[in-house]
Amino acid sequence: MEKFSYPNRCFTCAGCDADCPISLRTGALKPRSLVRLHVLGMTEALLRDPSIWYCIQCERCARTCPMNVKPSAVIRSARNKALSEGIVNPKFPEMLRQLRRRLQIARRQAAQDIFYRRIPVDPAQIWQEAETLQFRGNGLPVTVSTGTRLQSLKPHKRYMGNSTAVSSCWTCGSCSNACPVSENSDLFSPMFIIRTVNIGQDTLTARSGECWLCVACERCIDACPQGVKGAWVIRSVQDIALRNGEIPPQSYEIWRNVDSRLHSLFVDAVRAGLLSAGGND
Ligand code: SF4
Ligand code: SF4
Ligand code: SF4
Repeated sequence: MEKFSYPNRCFTCAGCDADCPISLRTGALKPRSLVRLHVLGMTEALLRDPSIWYCIQCERCARTCPMNVKPSAVIRSARNKALSEGIVNPKFPEMLRQLRRRLQIARRQAAQDIFYRRIPVDPAQIWQEAETLQFRGNGLPVTVSTGTRLQSLKPHKRYMGNSTAVSSCWTCGSCSNACPVSENSDLFSPMFIIRTVNIGQDTLTARSGECWLCVACERCIDACPQGVKGAWVIRSVQDIALRNGEIPPQSYEIWRNVDSRLHSLFVDAVRAGLLSAGGND
């Protein structure tokens, strides 16, 4: 077990369950239960629990816990032990990495279809298409990523001087390196979103669908050497776009349902992958 993970301090308040993005979207991962299995010495059950592989290591549970327990570290240790004891095939982590990428491709495509194209979305079909590991591209009228055809280069006043410290960003990329969703930085990057805010293009990031991929874990906040509150900036972009009518509220509701469904498909695929990969024993 990693140092400073304090599983024995857990008093089962379930704060981690309530904040875990995978639990919120699927109900299939309960970090509190996994910590309990560890504390009760039920190691075999813990190592064979498929839900240890659903975790995206966002550390939200550790951030939430009032007792400084780190369920994410308990899960990491369980994964390592399951691999070293041959309960899970050593090839499985690479399969899992590809499934995580497939999830983010599917989410990016769905977010774009919902928020930008505003067309009906079938999560099962998008999940199938994402297996080819291609994102269909955003087809947006303004190309921010290449720096061409920018409509405005003025920082957006509505984010300036508030507690998000957004204008302090010096684009080091620490937030994107820490972000679990930005494991696929071609699909999502908090640094890029913060940059678009600082050049007055925040509406674009809301309309393109990108900012809706954030799972609000706040690892970007911990990682930033400049004190930028990336997660809060992204939340502000979302709130302002909804409040100003740039994004219809029904699009947001559709996104929440589709996002939950895509995460459930991810969980199903992880479980199936575990079975097909098998163990070494
Ligand atoms: S690290 Fe994130 S995904 Fe994993 S159990 Fe904790 S909150 Fe859930
Ligand atoms: S970590 Fe902070 S300074 Fe670095 S890119 Fe992200 S927001 Fe900007
Ligand atoms: S942008 Fe920040 S809050 Fe959002 S998923 Fe990435 S690290 Fe978490």
